[in-house]
Amino acid sequence: MSVATEPPLTLADLEHWSFAGTALAVVGRPVAHSLSPEMHNAALAQLAQTQPRFRDWRYFKFDIAPADLPRALQLFHEKKFHGLNLTVPHKALAVELLAAGDPLVRIAGAANTLSRDATGWRGTNTDGYGLATALREELHIALADAPVLLLGAGGAARAAAVECLQQNCAALWIGNRSAASLSALMTSLHPLSSPTPPRGFDLHHPPADLPAGCLVVNATSLGLAPQDATPLDLSKIPRPAAVFDMIYRPPLTALLRQAAALGLAHANGLAMLIHQGARSLEIWTGQPAPVAIMQSAAHRALGTP
Ligand code: NDP
Repeated sequence: MSVATEPPLTLADLEHWSFAGTALAVVGRPVAHSLSPEMHNAALAQLAQTQPRFRDWRYFKFDIAPADLPRALQLFHEKKFHGLNLTVPHKALAVELLAAGDPLVRIAGAANTLSRDATGWRGTNTDGYGLATALREELHIALADAPVLLLGAGGAARAAAVECLQQNCAALWIGNRSAASLSALMTSLHPLSSPTPPRGFDLHHPPADLPAGCLVVNATSLGLAPQDATPLDLSKIPRPAAVFDMIYRPPLTALLRQAAALGLAHANGLAMLIHQGARSLEIWTGQPAPVAIMQSAAHRALGTP
């Protein structure tokens, strides 16, 4: 499998940063295998063909420790970076460091897209948009009116839960391994809970009264390792309408293999990755993102057709 090979930059590189153009970056730890630089630089090159102002725009990759995030965000601002994507584990950590965030960032407790303003960083979260767009594109499912069984209570699940409730999904069940993070998520979703309050459950004990025809969304990280088990035995719940796994590497998790064996519509998280990135780029450039170019770049970096 081919992967993005450019080594990440570090805090030391940032301390001595000088780049004459407009800089964007993804910031995470680990971040070495992020596909974002490939996707965004391909998109910027495409935009530059018709709009010369994008010729000096570049997207970089920074490996930053959680403890260094406050210093790094201050430096990114001083060094005039135009925008940042945040990935694991910074999405939640950054929320308290923002100069401004849209209200949904506060509810989701996670930001994945930062835009520079005069006083600091303005945060938003494009993961929910990426999920909703991927579901429409890959599974022909609109979140509005869909009953959703969401697995996980981490950063990605939080953004997904907010999107489901904002789009008035028919019902939302959220299952998680640890009761503490599930309970924290349920509390933070409270402002969005009317008219359909979400219901939480222990991942190992799905509710007995689930209807058939749910959309199952995996937002746990169980599946990232090729030998990982499925977070939910699909044969133990009423027949779902479809299964979406946010994981895209490996492309077929145990959950998706079981969905395929049961003859259920299913998709991995690659389209979500592409669409959350496309929306970030639109926020920074004010231009429609060349989604097909970003998609080809992601497939090239992954070595998939
Ligand atoms: P977090 O670390 O914030 O959350 C991890 C979640 O997975 C928690 O709910 C955690 O449960 C659960 N979990 C971890 N290990 C296990 C296990 N062994 N059994 C059951 N549950 C487990 O990660 P994120 O929310 O940021 O990411 C979650 C997944 O979504 C990752 O695989 C990530 O790659 C993917 N993702 C994909 C995106 C895309 O664009 N396609 C975008 C963002 C994320 P607990 O609370 O009990 O620890």
